[in-house]
Amino acid sequence: MFLGHFAAGMAAKRLSPTTPLPLLFIAAQFVDLLWPAFLLIGLEQVAIVPGMTAATPLDFISYPFTHSLLGTLGWGFLLGGVVYAFRKNEREAWIVAACVISHWFLDFFSHRPDLLLAPGMDIKYGLGLWNSLPATIVVEFGMFAAGIAIYTRITKAEDKKGSIGFWVLISALAVIYIGNLFGPPPPSVNVLAYSAIGLWLFVAWSWWVEAHRKS
Ligand SMILES: [Zn+2]
Repeated sequence: MFLGHFAAGMAAKRLSPTTPLPLLFIAAQFVDLLWPAFLLIGLEQVAIVPGMTAATPLDFISYPFTHSLLGTLGWGFLLGGVVYAFRKNEREAWIVAACVISHWFLDFFSHRPDLLLAPGMDIKYGLGLWNSLPATIVVEFGMFAAGIAIYTRITKAEDKKGSIGFWVLISALAVIYIGNLFGPPPPSVNVLAYSAIGLWLFVAWSWWVEAHRKS
C-alpha cells in the first residue's frame, strides 16, 4: 500500500489535531522509511519480478525486521516512546505508535502472502488486494480521498503556500502512485532502494505545507 498509508497519517490528525502532519506521515510510513536502509545493508531482500501481482512487480522475499507484525509493534513503541520523551503528550504518543502499527494491517490487506507475524516464523500472510488492479485503485484512492477530506476539514490554509502547496503535494503522491502502477518496473533493486529514500522528501514537504496552515 502507498496512498493508504499517507491517508492514515492525514486521518490521524482528527484524533490529535496538534500533532504535526510530518510526524504522522513519518509514523504511518515508518517501516517503509526504514526499509531502503535494511535493503542496502542486506538485512532484507526484495526482487523485481514483473507480473508478480497486478499492482506491483515487487517480490518481498524477506523483510522481517521492518514488516513483520512484531517488528512493526516494536518500531511503533519505539517511535511512540521517542515522541513522548520529546513532547510529553501521552495520547499523542499512543496515536503515533498506532499509526506505525497501522502500516502492517494496511499492508496485510494489499500484499500477497509475504508478511510474517514475527522474524523467524514460517507462515506468511497477506490478503492480496494487489492481485486486482481495479480493486487496488478503488481502495487506495478511496482511502486517500477520505484522508484528504479529514485533513482539510481540520486544518485550513493561511496563505497560498498552505493551499497550493498542499494540493501539489497531494498531486505529486497521486502521480507517483499512478507511475508505480502503470509505469515500467524499477531497473534494479538499488535504484528502487535509493528512490524509496525519496519518501523522506514528502515528510519534509508536509512540514513546509503545514507551516502555512492552521488547525
Ligand atoms: Zn510497507
